[in-house]
Amino acid sequence: MSKADVGRIDTGLLDDLGRRVVEVARGLFENKLVVSTFGVVSTRIPNTDYVLITPSGFSKARLDRENLIIVDLEANLVQGKFRPSVETPMHTHIHKRRPDLSTVIHTHSPMACAFAASNMDIPCVSAEQAFYLGGRVPVIRKYSLPGTTEEIELENIVRALKSINAVLMRKHGAVIVGKTPEEALDTAIVLEDVAKIALHSILLSKPREFTPRELKYLKEFKATRYGQKPATK
Ligand SMILES: [Zn+2]
Repeated sequence: MSKADVGRIDTGLLDDLGRRVVEVARGLFENKLVVSTFGVVSTRIPNTDYVLITPSGFSKARLDRENLIIVDLEANLVQGKFRPSVETPMHTHIHKRRPDLSTVIHTHSPMACAFAASNMDIPCVSAEQAFYLGGRVPVIRKYSLPGTTEEIELENIVRALKSINAVLMRKHGAVIVGKTPEEALDTAIVLEDVAKIALHSILLSKPREFTPRELKYLKEFKATRYGQKPATK
Protein backbone atom coordinates (compact mmCIF):
# COMPACT_ATOMS: atom_id res chain seq x y z
CA MET A 1 0.00 0.00 0.00
CA SER A 2 1.56 3.31 -1.01
CA LYS A 3 1.28 6.64 0.75
CA ALA A 4 -1.52 7.73 -1.57
CA ASP A 5 -3.47 4.62 -0.54
CA VAL A 6 -3.83 5.47 3.12
CA GLY A 7 -7.45 6.46 2.48
CA ARG A 8 -8.16 2.91 1.32
CA ILE A 9 -7.57 1.38 4.73
CA ASP A 10 -10.79 -0.30 5.90
CA THR A 11 -12.56 2.28 8.07
CA GLY A 12 -14.15 -0.40 10.26
CA LEU A 13 -10.75 -1.89 11.04
CA LEU A 14 -9.28 1.55 11.68
CA ASP A 15 -12.14 2.51 14.00
CA ASP A 16 -11.78 -0.69 15.99
CA LEU A 17 -8.01 -0.27 16.27
CA GLY A 18 -8.43 3.41 17.21
CA ARG A 19 -10.90 2.56 19.96
CA ARG A 20 -8.48 -0.04 21.38
CA VAL A 21 -5.50 2.34 21.27
CA VAL A 22 -7.50 4.99 23.14
CA GLU A 23 -8.60 2.41 25.74
CA VAL A 24 -5.00 1.29 26.24
CA ALA A 25 -3.81 4.91 26.53
CA ARG A 26 -6.49 5.54 29.19
CA GLY A 27 -5.44 2.28 30.88
CA LEU A 28 -1.89 3.62 31.16
CA PHE A 29 -3.21 6.75 32.86
CA GLU A 30 -5.62 4.90 35.16
CA ASN A 31 -2.87 2.51 36.27
CA LYS A 32 -0.58 5.49 36.97
CA LEU A 33 1.98 4.34 34.39
CA VAL A 34 1.95 7.79 32.76
CA VAL A 35 1.05 11.27 34.01
CA SER A 36 0.31 14.53 32.21
CA THR A 37 1.11 14.25 28.50
CA PHE A 38 3.84 11.61 28.84
CA GLY A 39 3.71 8.17 27.25
CA VAL A 40 3.03 6.92 23.73
CA VAL A 41 0.95 4.06 22.31
CA SER A 42 1.40 2.88 18.73
CA THR A 43 -0.03 -0.03 16.83
CA ARG A 44 0.71 -1.39 13.38
CA ILE A 45 -2.29 -1.21 11.02
CA PRO A 46 -2.52 -4.84 9.83
CA ASN A 47 -1.28 -5.59 6.30
CA THR A 48 0.07 -2.06 5.82
CA ASP A 49 3.28 -0.14 6.43
CA TYR A 50 1.40 2.36 8.58
CA VAL A 51 1.21 2.89 12.30
CA LEU A 52 -1.62 4.39 14.32
CA ILE A 53 -0.07 6.43 17.15
CA THR A 54 -0.97 8.85 19.91
CA PRO A 55 0.07 12.46 19.11
CA SER A 56 2.42 14.72 21.01
CA GLY A 57 1.17 16.75 23.95
CA PHE A 58 -2.16 15.04 24.75
CA SER A 59 -3.07 13.79 28.19
CA LYS A 60 -3.78 10.06 27.99
CA ALA A 61 -6.78 10.69 30.26
CA ARG A 62 -8.50 12.88 27.70
CA LEU A 63 -7.48 11.33 24.41
CA ASP A 64 -10.14 10.66 21.74
CA ARG A 65 -10.14 8.45 18.66
CA GLU A 66 -10.10 11.64 16.51
CA ASN A 67 -6.81 12.75 18.08
CA LEU A 68 -4.85 9.72 16.83
CA ILE A 69 -2.60 10.13 13.80
CA ILE A 70 -1.17 7.79 11.17
CA VAL A 71 2.55 7.74 10.34
CA ASP A 72 4.58 5.64 7.92
CA LEU A 73 7.49 3.43 8.98
CA GLU A 74 9.88 6.37 8.54
CA ALA A 75 7.88 8.37 11.10
CA ASN A 76 6.37 10.77 8.54
CA LEU A 77 2.85 12.01 9.25
CA VAL A 78 0.46 10.66 6.60
CA GLN A 79 -2.93 11.29 8.19
CA GLY A 80 -4.21 13.47 11.03
CA LYS A 81 -3.82 17.05 12.10
CA PHE A 82 -1.61 16.75 15.15
CA ARG A 83 2.15 16.65 15.52
CA PRO A 84 3.71 13.21 16.13
CA SER A 85 5.36 12.55 19.48
CA VAL A 86 9.12 13.04 19.68
CA GLU A 87 9.38 9.27 20.35
CA THR A 88 7.71 8.37 17.03
CA PRO A 89 11.01 7.34 15.31
CA MET A 90 11.67 4.83 18.12
CA HIS A 91 8.18 3.37 17.69
CA THR A 92 8.33 3.15 13.92
CA HIS A 93 11.82 1.63 14.05
CA ILE A 94 10.54 -1.18 16.28
CA HIS A 95 7.48 -1.69 14.03
CA LYS A 96 9.72 -1.79 10.97
CA ARG A 97 12.02 -4.41 12.49
CA ARG A 98 9.34 -6.46 14.25
CA PRO A 99 6.36 -6.98 11.92
CA ASP A 100 5.34 -9.91 14.16
CA LEU A 101 4.30 -7.42 16.86
CA SER A 102 1.21 -5.25 16.97
CA THR A 103 1.83 -2.68 19.66
CA VAL A 104 4.61 -0.61 21.22
CA ILE A 105 4.02 1.32 24.44
CA HIS A 106 6.33 3.87 26.02
CA THR A 107 5.78 4.81 29.66
CA HIS A 108 7.48 6.73 32.43
CA SER A 109 6.11 4.45 35.15
CA PRO A 110 7.82 5.47 38.41
CA MET A 111 9.24 2.19 39.74
CA ALA A 112 10.60 1.12 36.34
CA CYS A 113 11.95 4.67 35.90
CA ALA A 114 13.79 4.41 39.22
CA PHE A 115 15.80 1.49 37.79
CA ALA A 116 16.29 3.34 34.47
CA ALA A 117 17.47 6.44 36.36
CA SER A 118 19.97 4.32 38.28
CA ASN A 119 21.12 2.64 35.05
CA MET A 120 20.16 -0.73 36.56
CA ASP A 121 18.43 -3.77 35.09
CA ILE A 122 15.36 -4.94 37.03
CA PRO A 123 16.68 -8.14 38.61
CA CYS A 124 14.43 -11.15 38.32
CA VAL A 125 13.63 -11.76 41.98
CA SER A 126 9.86 -12.42 41.88
CA ALA A 127 7.96 -15.39 40.52
CA GLU A 128 5.70 -12.86 38.83
CA GLN A 129 8.61 -11.48 36.82
CA ALA A 130 10.09 -14.90 36.06
CA PHE A 131 6.73 -16.19 34.98
CA TYR A 132 5.39 -13.23 33.05
CA LEU A 133 8.47 -11.50 31.65
CA GLY A 134 10.83 -14.45 31.61
CA GLY A 135 13.85 -12.84 33.23
CA ARG A 136 15.62 -9.62 34.12
CA VAL A 137 14.49 -6.47 32.35
CA PRO A 138 17.56 -4.83 30.82
CA VAL A 139 18.37 -1.16 30.72
CA ILE A 140 19.62 0.00 27.31
CA ARG A 141 22.92 1.55 28.31
CA LYS A 142 23.96 2.69 24.85
CA TYR A 143 21.10 5.10 24.50
CA SER A 144 21.48 8.87 24.66
CA LEU A 145 18.47 11.12 25.08
CA PRO A 146 14.67 11.08 24.70
CA GLY A 147 13.66 11.43 21.06
CA THR A 148 16.89 9.98 19.69
CA THR A 149 16.87 9.06 16.01
CA GLU A 150 20.30 7.40 16.11
CA GLU A 151 19.81 4.12 14.28
CA ILE A 152 22.43 2.35 16.37
CA GLU A 153 20.65 3.29 19.60
CA LEU A 154 17.22 2.30 18.26
CA GLU A 155 18.74 -0.97 17.10
CA ASN A 156 20.00 -1.61 20.65
CA ILE A 157 16.37 -1.49 21.80
CA VAL A 158 15.28 -3.89 19.03
CA ARG A 159 18.08 -6.30 19.94
CA ALA A 160 17.12 -6.34 23.62
CA LEU A 161 13.47 -6.92 22.74
CA LYS A 162 14.36 -10.23 21.07
CA SER A 163 14.42 -12.02 24.41
CA ILE A 164 11.96 -10.02 26.53
CA ASN A 165 8.84 -7.90 26.03
CA ALA A 166 9.98 -4.88 28.02
CA VAL A 167 13.19 -2.86 28.28
CA LEU A 168 14.31 0.28 30.09
CA MET A 169 15.73 3.37 28.40
CA ARG A 170 18.60 4.84 30.39
CA LYS A 171 17.50 7.77 32.64
CA HIS A 172 14.19 7.92 30.86
CA GLY A 173 11.48 5.26 30.88
CA ALA A 174 10.28 1.93 29.55
CA VAL A 175 9.38 0.37 26.21
CA ILE A 176 6.89 -2.49 26.20
CA VAL A 177 5.72 -4.53 23.21
CA GLY A 178 2.83 -6.91 22.62
CA LYS A 179 1.03 -8.97 20.02
CA THR A 180 -2.14 -6.96 20.73
CA PRO A 181 -2.69 -3.51 22.28
CA GLU A 182 -4.29 -5.17 25.32
CA GLU A 183 -1.38 -7.60 25.80
CA ALA A 184 1.09 -4.70 25.70
CA LEU A 185 -0.94 -2.82 28.36
CA ASP A 186 -0.99 -5.93 30.56
CA THR A 187 2.78 -6.26 30.28
CA ALA A 188 3.23 -2.56 31.09
CA ILE A 189 1.17 -3.05 34.26
CA VAL A 190 3.14 -6.17 35.26
CA LEU A 191 6.45 -4.39 34.54
CA GLU A 192 5.65 -1.65 37.04
CA ASP A 193 4.54 -4.20 39.61
CA VAL A 194 7.69 -6.33 39.31
CA ALA A 195 9.87 -3.20 39.44
CA LYS A 196 8.14 -2.28 42.70
CA ILE A 197 8.74 -5.77 44.15
CA ALA A 198 12.39 -5.75 43.05
CA LEU A 199 13.01 -2.27 44.47
CA HIS A 200 11.50 -3.19 47.83
CA SER A 201 13.33 -6.51 48.02
CA ILE A 202 16.62 -4.67 47.39
CA LEU A 203 15.75 -2.27 50.21
CA LEU A 204 14.97 -5.14 52.59
CA SER A 205 17.70 -7.60 51.75
CA LYS A 206 20.14 -8.79 49.12
CA PRO A 207 17.74 -10.78 46.96
CA ARG A 208 18.90 -13.70 44.85
CA GLU A 209 17.75 -13.90 41.28
CA PHE A 210 16.09 -16.86 39.64
CA THR A 211 18.66 -19.13 38.04
CA PRO A 212 18.57 -19.92 34.28
CA ARG A 213 17.36 -23.42 35.21
CA GLU A 214 14.49 -22.06 37.29
CA LEU A 215 13.57 -19.63 34.52
CA LYS A 216 13.51 -22.50 32.01
CA TYR A 217 11.22 -24.51 34.31
CA LEU A 218 8.82 -21.58 34.72
CA LYS A 219 8.81 -20.94 30.98
CA GLU A 220 7.81 -24.53 30.31
CA PHE A 221 5.26 -24.44 33.10
CA LYS A 222 3.67 -21.33 31.59
CA ALA A 223 3.64 -22.83 28.11
CA THR A 224 2.19 -26.21 29.10
CA ARG A 225 0.29 -26.03 32.36
CA TYR A 226 -0.91 -22.49 33.02
CA GLY A 227 -4.27 -20.96 32.06
CA GLN A 228 -6.92 -22.57 29.90
CA LYS A 229 -6.52 -24.60 26.76
CA PRO A 230 -8.55 -23.42 23.78
CA ALA A 231 -11.94 -25.16 23.75
CA THR A 232 -12.08 -28.32 21.66
CA LYS A 233 -15.18 -29.92 20.20
ZN1 LIG B 1 9.53 9.42 27.29
